[in-house]
Amino acid sequence: MAIDDSSSSSFFSPWPDRLRHSAIILIAAGMALAALVTFGELSPLRAVAVFICIAAAALVPWRLHNVSASREDVRGVNPVESAAVSAIVAGMPDPAVLLDRAGRVIHLNAAAAQLAPALRRNELAQFALRSPEIITALREAIATTETRRATYLDHVPVDRWMELIITPVPVPTLFGGADKCMLMTFHDQTPLRRVEEMRADFVANASHELRTPLAALSGFIDTLQGPAKDDVKARERFLGIMHTQATRMARLIDDLLSLSRVELSAHVRPDTLVDIVPIIRQVADGLEPLAGERQVEIDIDLPETPVAIAGDREELLRLFENLIENALKYGASGGKVIVSLSQAMSGENSPEVRVMVRDFGPGIAPEHLPRLTERFYRVDVGDSRAQGGTGLGLSLVKHIVNRHRGRLLIESVPKNGATFTACFPQAKTSASALS
Ligand code: ADP
Repeated sequence: MAIDDSSSSSFFSPWPDRLRHSAIILIAAGMALAALVTFGELSPLRAVAVFICIAAAALVPWRLHNVSASREDVRGVNPVESAAVSAIVAGMPDPAVLLDRAGRVIHLNAAAAQLAPALRRNELAQFALRSPEIITALREAIATTETRRATYLDHVPVDRWMELIITPVPVPTLFGGADKCMLMTFHDQTPLRRVEEMRADFVANASHELRTPLAALSGFIDTLQGPAKDDVKARERFLGIMHTQATRMARLIDDLLSLSRVELSAHVRPDTLVDIVPIIRQVADGLEPLAGERQVEIDIDLPETPVAIAGDREELLRLFENLIENALKYGASGGKVIVSLSQAMSGENSPEVRVMVRDFGPGIAPEHLPRLTERFYRVDVGDSRAQGGTGLGLSLVKHIVNRHRGRLLIESVPKNGATFTACFPQAKTSASALS
C-alpha cells in the first residue's frame, strides 16, 4: 500500500509507527550510554543494565498495545494502513462501508452515514440494516469468499431502490498477510427501476388502448355474420361504428410510431432552416373544417415576414396540429381559438420564437397541468375517447419541442380556457436560406 512517508528514513519507513518510535528511542539511548561509557562516566555493565531497562520500557507498551488492539474490532489492521483504507472508503463516490470479519463497521464514508444513519463504527452492520435479505447476504459473505447482493430500500425523503453489494476483501495486517474484511457498497438503481416501471406501464396502456377498439370491431363482425346478417339498417350503423374504431386504432398506431421516431432522434437537433409562419398557416387552414363543425372561429395573428427556426417541417406540422386540434376539441365551448406568433428574449437572453395557441373553453384544473404531457394521461378519459383522442398528443408535442431545444409552456385558468405556448430558439438567417 503506498504511503507518503518521505520524512522518515528509508530504513524505518516500512516499520509500523509505534515500533519505529521505540527503535528511535533505543538508538538514542544506546548512543548516549555509549558516550558515557567512553568518557568513563559509567561502567559498561551498568550501561547494559540501563539499556535493558530502557528497551523494556520502550517495547513492552507497544507490544501490549498491539495485543489489545488485535483483540479489538480493528483486528490486526495496521493503523497506518487503516488510515489509507479509511481514505479510500471516504473517497468512494457511492455509499461505502468496510466491515471486519464479524460484520462490525471499521470505516464508512459520509454518503453511507447519510443513507443509513444507524450504521456506526465498531457496531455490527446487521443491527443497523435490519432487512432479513441483507442479514442473510452479510452472513453468507462472512462465511464464504463470494460476493453477495441484496436490495436496500430507502423511503426518506423519497423512495429509493439501492443495490447492496457485499464483497469480501483482504485487508493487509500489521505483520504482513491479510485479514478478511467486507466492503459493502450501495448503488442507486432508482432511475433504472423507474424506466422499467414506465416501460411496463406504457406497454400495458398501449395494449389496453388497442384492445378496446379491437374488441368492438370483432364484436360487430360477429354480429354482422350472425344475428344482423340480413338487417340492412343495422349493417349500415355497425359499419359506421367499425369505421370509427378502425380510425381510432390507426391513429393510435400512428401516434405511437411518431412518438418512437421522435424519441429515437431526440439527441439530434434538426438543422434545416424553416420558415415557421407558412407551417402554422397550413395547419390552421387544414383544421378549418373541424373548426366549422365545432362552431369555433380561428383567429390567426402571424407576421407577414418569414420567421426562421432550425426545425423539422413534418414534426412542426404534427406539433401545431395537435395543439390547435386540442383547442378546437376541448375548448370548443369558448367559440374562439387564437393562434399567434411573437418574438421575444428567453430567460437566457437569447432570441426565441413563441407560438401561442389559446382557447376560451373550460380550461384545465391546476393539479392536471404537470402531468398533461405524460403518455396516455387525460383529464377525462371518456371525453378524450369521444373526441377521438389517444392521450399521446401532448406527449408527442413535448418530445418535438425538446428535440428542437425549445420549451412548452402550459397555462390555464379553469373556466377561462387554456394557453399552450411552444418556444423555439430563433435562427439567425437571411430569407433566401429558408427551405
Ligand atoms: P388526447 O389525445 O386525449 O387529446 P393529449 O395528449 O393531446 O391527448 O391531451 C391530453 C389531455 O389534456 C386531453 O385528454 C385533455 O383532457 C387535456 N387537454 C389538452 N388540451 C386541452 C385544452 N386546450 N383544453 C382543455 N383540456 C385539454
